[in-house]
Amino acid sequence: MRAVVLEKSGLVFRTDYPEPTLCEGEVLVRVLRAGICETDLQLIRGYLGFRGVLGHEFVGVAETGRWKGRRVVCEINCSCHRCSTCQSGLPNHCPNRTVLGIVNRDGCFADLVAVPERNLHAVPEEVSTDEAVFAEPLAAAFEILAQVSFHPKDRVVVLGDGRLGHLCAQVLKQTGADVLVVGKHAEKLKLLEQEAIATGLADQLSPSRVADLVVDCTGSPSGLEQGLKWLKPRGTLVLKTTLAASHTLSLAPVVIDEITIVGSRCGPFRPALDALAEKRVNVRPLISAVLPLEQALEAFQHAQSSTALKVLLAVDE
Ligand SMILES: [Zn+2]
Ligand SMILES: [Zn+2]
Repeated sequence: MRAVVLEKSGLVFRTDYPEPTLCEGEVLVRVLRAGICETDLQLIRGYLGFRGVLGHEFVGVAETGRWKGRRVVCEINCSCHRCSTCQSGLPNHCPNRTVLGIVNRDGCFADLVAVPERNLHAVPEEVSTDEAVFAEPLAAAFEILAQVSFHPKDRVVVLGDGRLGHLCAQVLKQTGADVLVVGKHAEKLKLLEQEAIATGLADQLSPSRVADLVVDCTGSPSGLEQGLKWLKPRGTLVLKTTLAASHTLSLAPVVIDEITIVGSRCGPFRPALDALAEKRVNVRPLISAVLPLEQALEAFQHAQSSTALKVLLAVDE
């Protein structure tokens, strides 16, 4: 089958990749559309040392199992559901887990992908295939609401106007919070303003300590330090960026100002799919390009450019 594979030599498009074999509890999904994410770009730079088929954001049609013939999206953490972490209700933190296209499991930039059936969610009729690709990153944005308690008058600053920054800002705005997105790209910020979200250009704004909550979606090691400059004492900094690089930072301000730092990763799919079905989140303007799987390397080039938001791979074309 066709697949986009991260090998020792780099990213390659292959037509001779073996079709996946199913383990117990798994089903085969034929991929329709897949999305390139910041994590994919980090993996190419060496994050987590991943080798194999890349990709974890996708919509496909189940070929086997209870969802056979239906459009599905898939949670990316494939957990054992037997260990004490799983039993305590935290399967996304299972120490035995594999993660689709990220840790020890082939991903979705291929014709076919094998996934645990229990990870699948049927896509509601009202959600288009292109929109449904956003279920996974949108679920990650909803994870913030699951982790941090909110007051409707809270001031929120989202750092970063990229893919995840847009989704987090739209999700946070729904809580009634006063949301400001600080970014570097006027044309990306304009899209947020069309959703009635306040924005500012990073080089024209000097941080002031006004925020109850800061969400770092910069994809850059500087996001953490910037975030601290926006936070009120006792504020909360949510880190959404996973990076190949490491931070060097004095943590004294965290102690002095009693800042809470919350790491935030994968989230619940149900509210994400509901928000897409009810058109509470608008993801269409975020699609910068749709390219066929054969042009995956070009698509990756495009996803790395500063003007691109979400680049999709049309696997079924
Ligand atoms: Zn992702
Ligand atoms: Zn487990």
